[in-house]
Amino acid sequence: MLPPISTRTPESLKKWLTDRDEPAYRADQILQWVHQKGATDWSAMSNLPGTLRNQLLESFQFSSVEPAKEQGSLDTTLKFLWKLDDGQLVESVLIPANPALYGESSDRHTLCVSTQVGCAYGCRFCASGLEGFKRNLTPAEIVDQVLAVERIRRDAASARDRLITNLVIMGMGEPMANYDNLLAALEILNADWGTGIGARKITISTSGLVPRIRELAQQPRQYRLAISLHGATDAVREQIMPINRRYPLKELAAAAVEYQSMKNGMITLEYILIEGINDHLDQVVPLAQLAKQLRAKVNLIPYNQVDGLKWNRPSVVAQDAFLDGLKALGTPVTLRREKGHDIDAACGQLRLRTEKELAEDAL
Ligand code: SAH
Ligand code: SF4
Repeated sequence: MLPPISTRTPESLKKWLTDRDEPAYRADQILQWVHQKGATDWSAMSNLPGTLRNQLLESFQFSSVEPAKEQGSLDTTLKFLWKLDDGQLVESVLIPANPALYGESSDRHTLCVSTQVGCAYGCRFCASGLEGFKRNLTPAEIVDQVLAVERIRRDAASARDRLITNLVIMGMGEPMANYDNLLAALEILNADWGTGIGARKITISTSGLVPRIRELAQQPRQYRLAISLHGATDAVREQIMPINRRYPLKELAAAAVEYQSMKNGMITLEYILIEGINDHLDQVVPLAQLAKQLRAKVNLIPYNQVDGLKWNRPSVVAQDAFLDGLKALGTPVTLRREKGHDIDAACGQLRLRTEKELAEDAL
């Protein structure tokens, strides 16, 4: 397999060009086509000589993800399934602006990106972990999810501006368990010469890998952090997320405090409401206390039913009672009525269903 173009730095591309007696300034043109102008293939790079386009074609892979399926609409939620070089499937979800979330303004789009095939952490509400962990995504496979969505949408809408303004690293997989590849990808997605998405518009979601949260706090970029909490006491969280046994809430909170102090107010606590499991009002006070300690806001998400899992979404009345309890304690909180409920928008679900269909087709 050829090396991917999307993870080339300007320096390495300049060297590649000068090795071939091509002018170094072509590197900027190539990077612009790849990261900013949404070129759909090498032949679209109209200001490059044909001989150079041919050399590029022979030397680099244009994209490491291939569209396998698209579901939904641009106005609601649009889900993309990608096929990787080894035939594995991962997904990305494009979510239109919701100003209450992650500080987007309207007319903006957030792309939810995957970082692994499957997941090793086995949270009990989550489709991504159901079939275990397969492998880490490469930096190119992470970057290419963003570039491929830009290309497809630009094609459809003939738009000139970039569509994706915000990223949430909240798709399939545990981003912090693929830390080096993730940070390499984000460097490119963030770089001025690359995709140019501001660090403060990038949110990394984690189930709570404490040492990695501390490491992320020390690196220079101002990425936002979302912590998948889903339980405000160890007894409740342990039933939902096995990782809580390794890193209990006290340790998680200490690492999050460190992140908060380094990055200043960049934390969101994600809390899926699951009927009879974590929606009891006795979770409200400890949740409010943790949010206050971290100066974090809370996103409540009604549980999205997953095939093969038995848990349920609480009634709207129960959801509102939990929300009102937090509000009464002064916690900044939003209740995210899941936008992509109808199209399996919660991570891992489209892949799971497609793999099941493929398996049935193969019978
Ligand atoms: N591994 C990381 C990132 C991916 S999963 C982490 O755990 O944070 C992160 C998010 O996906 C969860 O916090 C939740 O917001 C969402 N999610 C996953 N399964 C869901 C389900 N069944 N219903 C609703 N949201 C779900
Ligand atoms: Fe993995 Fe996150 Fe799903 Fe847990 S919620 S199984 S960490 S992807």
